Amino acid sequence: MESKFDKLRSYLAEALDLLYVTGLLSWDQQTNMPPNGAEARGQITGTIERLLHLRASSPELGQMLEDLKSEVNNLDPDSDDARLYKVTLREYERRTKVPPELVTELAETIGLAYSSWEKAKAENDFPTFKPFLEKIVELRRTYAKLFAPYDHIYDPLLAEFEPGMKTADVKEIFNALRPQQVELIREITAKPQVDDAPLTQHFDPKKQWDFGVEVITKFGYDWKSGRLDEVVHPFTIGIGKGDTRITTRILPEYIGSGLFSTMHECGHALYDMGASEKRARTILGQIRSLGLHESQSRLYENLVGRSLPFWQHFYPRLQSLFPSQLGNVSLEAFYKGINKVEPSLIRIEADEATYNLHIMLRLELEISLMEGSLEVVDLPEAWNARMKEYLGVTPTSDSEGVLQDVHWSHGYFGYFSTYALGNLISLQWWEKIYQDIPDLDDQFRRGEFGALLTWLRENIHYHGAKFDAQELVQKITGSKIDPAPYMRYLRNKYTDIYGL
Ligand SMILES: [Zn+2]
Repeated sequence: MESKFDKLRSYLAEALDLLYVTGLLSWDQQTNMPPNGAEARGQITGTIERLLHLRASSPELGQMLEDLKSEVNNLDPDSDDARLYKVTLREYERRTKVPPELVTELAETIGLAYSSWEKAKAENDFPTFKPFLEKIVELRRTYAKLFAPYDHIYDPLLAEFEPGMKTADVKEIFNALRPQQVELIREITAKPQVDDAPLTQHFDPKKQWDFGVEVITKFGYDWKSGRLDEVVHPFTIGIGKGDTRITTRILPEYIGSGLFSTMHECGHALYDMGASEKRARTILGQIRSLGLHESQSRLYENLVGRSLPFWQHFYPRLQSLFPSQLGNVSLEAFYKGINKVEPSLIRIEADEATYNLHIMLRLELEISLMEGSLEVVDLPEAWNARMKEYLGVTPTSDSEGVLQDVHWSHGYFGYFSTYALGNLISLQWWEKIYQDIPDLDDQFRRGEFGALLTWLRENIHYHGAKFDAQELVQKITGSKIDPAPYMRYLRNKYTDIYGL
């Protein structure tokens, strides 16, 4: 006889199928769709999303969860079934708390806000975007209030992207991190700058592409379960077991873009592949924590891809592909070039030492907007003041200041901090990995990345969405999310590179 849990699992599997359909539609939209298809595609996606929402918030599902309540109390709280119940209940409650009218109003506002933001950014015109952003802030506040009582109005927004995490936790972590990062950057900028000119030459895009493919094949990206396409804003998308697609962006005049975005997305993809292999067609295979996800992408991009042992293996190969550009550039010079630290205005171009400060600034502004202590009209000025304070640079236009990121026009409040959390978590994994695999550097020098992937599969990927970020970090490393390993790493690395 089918158990109550079996019934729940098959019900959720069909909801997941709808989610994969939206993923496939979105992948197609960003890679292949002819431009005139945009309007119809919006409608098609809207319909599928409505069906998904109906299924994920239906009274039938509510009843199933109710029926399982007593059974769950007798389960080991860390068992798969207990966790499936917890994750499903949380999602169900989230969906049923929000009235459909608010969902529609938010979706419509976002549709308009996105085009307004694109135009405002291109024309450096914050005032035209201002009313849309005001509306979004108002709707997000209304949304958050549906989840009262809470410790902080920002909590329900953060929970969308980082389940289980509270505003107070993130603030505490960032407060410990901020002064140390500011001090490190001050020390670095007092030293002579390294030269990254060799990276900005003409590099044949086809050869860049092939090199990226070679690298991620060594990382363990499975080409029978994925593919790589070129887009403007790279992303990774999982469309069920055996299908995790990645994208990249190649710039002919700068080798850093394609190289590191390919490795970054591969990190996301390996996570998705590992989770969906073990947890096919269950929502425990759907990783909800963006911080955990980013801990994988940043690990491959930075901890592997910007490391010396990695380049001791790969640099001769890269030189052989680009002899006239890199033939006379030493490994040491190249390594320093890809690790140059320079406080700058744009988050997505920021180096490892300055990146988190871009995030802290956004988090603080978002919290103030939600609390009502900052008005949208004062946002550009508040942005510029913090850039000056944290990074010592001041935007000369709103396009390279408050308008630079797409997130707010999408209604994403609560998203940014997951990038910084991912950085911190990646180093907590890293220190544990080196304890478990002490000769990892030697393996990289030999071009071997299998032991690393096996470790990540067993300790992280395998669990999928079973644990929240804080729980998984605690389970694997024995401590909560902690900025200390990240600061140790930065200090060691830049002491070598800049002679601190
Ligand atoms: Zn990412």
